Amino acid sequence: MSIGGIIPVSFVDYPEQIATTIFISGCNFRCGYCHNPDLVFGKTKTTTEAEVFEYLFKARGRWIDAVCISGGEPTQYLGLKQFIHKIKKMGLLVKLDTNGTHPEILYDLDIDYLAMDFKTSLGRYCELTGVKNIEEKISSSLDYILNQNNFDYEIRTTLVPSLVGPKEISEMSQMLKGVKKWILQPFRNIKTIDPNFKKIIPFDKATCEKILKTAQEKIPHTSLRN
Ligand code: SF4
Repeated sequence: MSIGGIIPVSFVDYPEQIATTIFISGCNFRCGYCHNPDLVFGKTKTTTEAEVFEYLFKARGRWIDAVCISGGEPTQYLGLKQFIHKIKKMGLLVKLDTNGTHPEILYDLDIDYLAMDFKTSLGRYCELTGVKNIEEKISSSLDYILNQNNFDYEIRTTLVPSLVGPKEISEMSQMLKGVKKWILQPFRNIKTIDPNFKKIIPFDKATCEKILKTAQEKIPHTSLRN
């Protein structure tokens, strides 16, 4: 695993747990609004697995109870299963953040919580992520996550004017019937991979609330995170 950084203590990355967040370098997507280009392009200072485990060994059960493995995209690494196994053996809970492009990896992971980014309607995935022919993988990941009982989960969507708005949310909600938790969040134009996204004005609060209501008509367990 190529580790691009850690947050030793986080109160926001794992629901109701104090966690260490580990950022895995590299991503197969190029979402224009991505706020972490250095991590995506593998330009952050790396931390070794040994250093991470040395820290987790000291912190577990004392000031953290969980680990959030984020990215980048962690499922790109074949060593992910073993990495998670080592963390679980330390008695820590594990949450995985993923873009859902590797369902075949998800089936096999011993995790406690998963957060998947469902980015837009399938027809617009390539436009948003820069990756072709990924729709089937996204569908399979959603299908698996929504129908399993092994771990708790949330599905997250970033609202972006002209790319992820009311029309897309309505289409996406068709694929999320029965979902336990869908979180919408407005995109921010502070730091973005594609400089053109800095010019996009995010939806205002009232518009986000309106989109939320549209989503809730089909998916009651939808909320807005600011
Ligand atoms: S937003 Fe997530 S999936 Fe998209 S490029 Fe950034 S890290 Fe990858």
